[in-house]
Amino acid sequence: MNPVLELARPDILSLQPYQHAAWEPSLERMHANEMPWRASGDTSLAGLNRYPEPQPAELIAHLAALYGVAPDNVLAGRGSDEGIDLLVRAFCRAGQDSVLICPPTFGMYKVSARVQGAGVVEVPLAKERGFALDSQAVLDSWKSGVKLLFLCTPNNPTGNLLDRAAIELLCEQLAGRAIVVVDEAYVEFARGPSLIDRLARFSNLVILRTLSKAYALAGARCGALLAHPDIVSLLARVITPYALPTQTIEAVLRFTDSQHRAESQKRIDVIRSERARLGEQLARLPAIRRVWPSDSNFVLVDCIDPDRVLRAAASVGLIVRDPRSQPGLGSSLRISVGTAEQNDRLVQGIAQATGAAA
Ligand code: PMP
Repeated sequence: MNPVLELARPDILSLQPYQHAAWEPSLERMHANEMPWRASGDTSLAGLNRYPEPQPAELIAHLAALYGVAPDNVLAGRGSDEGIDLLVRAFCRAGQDSVLICPPTFGMYKVSARVQGAGVVEVPLAKERGFALDSQAVLDSWKSGVKLLFLCTPNNPTGNLLDRAAIELLCEQLAGRAIVVVDEAYVEFARGPSLIDRLARFSNLVILRTLSKAYALAGARCGALLAHPDIVSLLARVITPYALPTQTIEAVLRFTDSQHRAESQKRIDVIRSERARLGEQLARLPAIRRVWPSDSNFVLVDCIDPDRVLRAAASVGLIVRDPRSQPGLGSSLRISVGTAEQNDRLVQGIAQATGAAA
């Protein structure tokens, strides 16, 4: 057995998965208790009266090509949120195992662990070093039963990339002890490369990618978990049988074709230049104490009075994220980069409400 599977829950390894209706597109379906007619007005390609293909081969091949991996490295799910949930459910025994997170970071790692009854070990990012990953502290805090290490790069909500060499070191040092999950939801907006090219080297590395951000498909709910084929097969036993809706499958294939990929690339360039412009303008406002450097499609700012900034944003019809419950972010707000008009409106709204010229 691949040693990485020894980290999984024994009852998942021995689980007899649900036998979904066989996928036999050349035969007419009388085996899935579906209606033989479409609802009137159903314009989907496959027909919503039919259950979709589980882990659809065309979509998986498409995602594999998009991310430069082999199809057996890909598990498609409803957003990367589902990838996080599946990992926790497959690897962590309730009441016994734990995940390790580096706050401030994306909230779902902790929530998924809590839902599963798993423990959460927290090793904060080093704020004084721009929220850098403290790999030595992670290694020192690892204890038996910590099955998953969640790293987010660029990190949400701080916006910075984590050091690639530090992540590789952790993959190496934690081999046989934990899976290193690298959440790259925002990597398309970053200056640094993805860690996908390290998948072949580390069988305990899992990468999460999403169609929600750079491809503008948050409402479609599709994410890709990229990993060693043994991990992909294990999680495919746990995922619900027809996880991806037909509309999702068809939307992803349609909206990530070469024409849409080119559009996405242009928009990423716009977001990057707007990110720089928004950051500079915010930094000039007396209400803003600090704008943290960002490699993502949002900026984290420290405010003199965050409530006042929230009210100022609302007064010009905008809402920004309040991450203040997270460690180290007591005076911070997270602002998603919008259109030039939205960014200008936000800056002017804050300037006016706090008595400064924009
Ligand atoms: N990871 C990170 C870091 C995120 O910020 C988000 C969404 N905000 C997700 C994963 C989940 O994305 P989705 O489920 O839409 O793919």
